[in-house]
Amino acid sequence: MLGTVIIIAGSTTLHDFGSIFVLCRYRLGWDLFGHLPATEENIMDYDVLVVGGGPAGCATARDIAAEGFRVLVAEEHSAVGEPLQCSGLISSRALELSQVSNHVVLNELKGALVYAPDNRIFNLVGERIYGLAIDRVAFDQELAVQAREAGAEIRKSSRVIHLTGIPGGIKARIQTKGSVYAEHDVSCRLVIGADGYKSLVASWLGLLYPSQKVSIYAAEVELTSTNEQAVKIFLGQELAPAWFAWVIPAGRKLARVGIGVVRQEGFSACRPGASQLFLQLMKAHPKIFNDLRVLKCTGGVVPIGLMKRSYGNHALLVGDAACHIKPISGGGLYLGLEAARCCAEAAISSLKARDYSSKFLSNYQRAWKGKVGQEISCGLMHRNVFLKMSDQEIDNMIAFLDTPYWRRIILKYADLDYHSVLAGKLAFAPPWAHRFLLKGLISFVNRCSRVMGKGSRSTLS
Ligand SMILES: Cc1cc2nc3c(=O)[nH]c(=O)nc-3n(C[C@H](O)[C@H](O)[C@H](O)COP(=O)(O)OP(=O)(O)OC[C@H]3O[C@@H](n4cnc5c(N)ncnc54)[C@H](O)[C@@H]3O)c2cc1C
Repeated sequence: MLGTVIIIAGSTTLHDFGSIFVLCRYRLGWDLFGHLPATEENIMDYDVLVVGGGPAGCATARDIAAEGFRVLVAEEHSAVGEPLQCSGLISSRALELSQVSNHVVLNELKGALVYAPDNRIFNLVGERIYGLAIDRVAFDQELAVQAREAGAEIRKSSRVIHLTGIPGGIKARIQTKGSVYAEHDVSCRLVIGADGYKSLVASWLGLLYPSQKVSIYAAEVELTSTNEQAVKIFLGQELAPAWFAWVIPAGRKLARVGIGVVRQEGFSACRPGASQLFLQLMKAHPKIFNDLRVLKCTGGVVPIGLMKRSYGNHALLVGDAACHIKPISGGGLYLGLEAARCCAEAAISSLKARDYSSKFLSNYQRAWKGKVGQEISCGLMHRNVFLKMSDQEIDNMIAFLDTPYWRRIILKYADLDYHSVLAGKLAFAPPWAHRFLLKGLISFVNRCSRVMGKGSRSTLS
């Protein structure tokens, strides 16, 4: 059934346009927000509103603005990149992808010293550069400059507090923090949620968020006993339950330290918090941490999982908001930037086709899954195996690997962004191969039984 409707959309264009009248036709019963065709009459303040001025948001905004579209980035904090919640370890591949200059590089890292629960030190320091310690605040700020230079508008101290569907787009209420709080609305055709793990856009879309979150105590510290070339990694289910601890030298006796603890169902609620665990780590390794002086706390939360859906009508999610995070290390910059590319491409296609429907935007999910989905899935599988390992098994594993042969294999295949390559090689190392193979077999059988008929309820566990 067809109907003709006059919609008064004056409040959507508060700044520049004043009230406008939109005359449009739509079929009653359609999803108004998803399928109303965008016509020249549906004038919006912006083509795209990016919620969140982190690296994923700014990289996406930059690429969309470069195509000539009107992009607004709303960032709740008064400075991009602050407060810092990161240890700033990335690969040179990630730096290249970001298009940020190498001025942000503070230190080049040639490997790791892995501390087993029994305190054996597995030396994995090689010749090539595996990682870069970067100035993460400068990194984020350079991405924001790139976005601005491409034509995007960056509004700081601007928190998006509410979203509403309107004909042809979305209206966002933005709270700005100056000498006083003020609120105003902007309208856009597409909203991109680059607003981190507590994403307002994801909850507005009603998207299910993965349940595993890692609480991280982290800090930028002064530490004289730092080996300037190697990251230190501390393993142990007692020491850092379901996660690990690290020291990343950032040059000139500065380092980033951190430790994570998983909070989710099935893990004891009375487990010590991340900061308490860090104190225990310092006590356990007095030689390393003796003269540690905390300069700045940089902790936060990392979401772990694979999001089944990262889009909706007029909306896309990217970066931490879409769980674009490596499940084994919690690193999110590389995956977030890869996904930002896919997100910008999806947004540009949608704007060009004037199709903002969830169906059209579902191409985005396929695109980022094609790029990084496999890595996230493999990471989750390997992580599940790690979670089931006792300290004794971790000790055995490291004792087994601590030979010239395995060291060579690890140094050859280690890759900060693609853990699955090395994990695949190690999966067949005898002490725990059965775990990987058994786990793989169980999940294969479960998947088959799910596919082969809902009637068959038997699954292995
Ligand atoms: C302690 C710690 C250490 C880490 N170390 C590393 C590391 O060494 N290497 C690595 O690759 N990754 C690391 N990560 C992960 C990495 O920091 C994230 O993956 C990355 O920051 C994700 O970028 P993003 O743009 O998606 O989100 P964010 O960087 O979180 O940016 C989101 C932005 O959105 C803003 N925002 C949120 N809600 C709103 C709103 N309603 N309105 C307006 N603005 C809003 C926030 O203020 C924030 O600026 C670490 C994370 C933590 C917590």
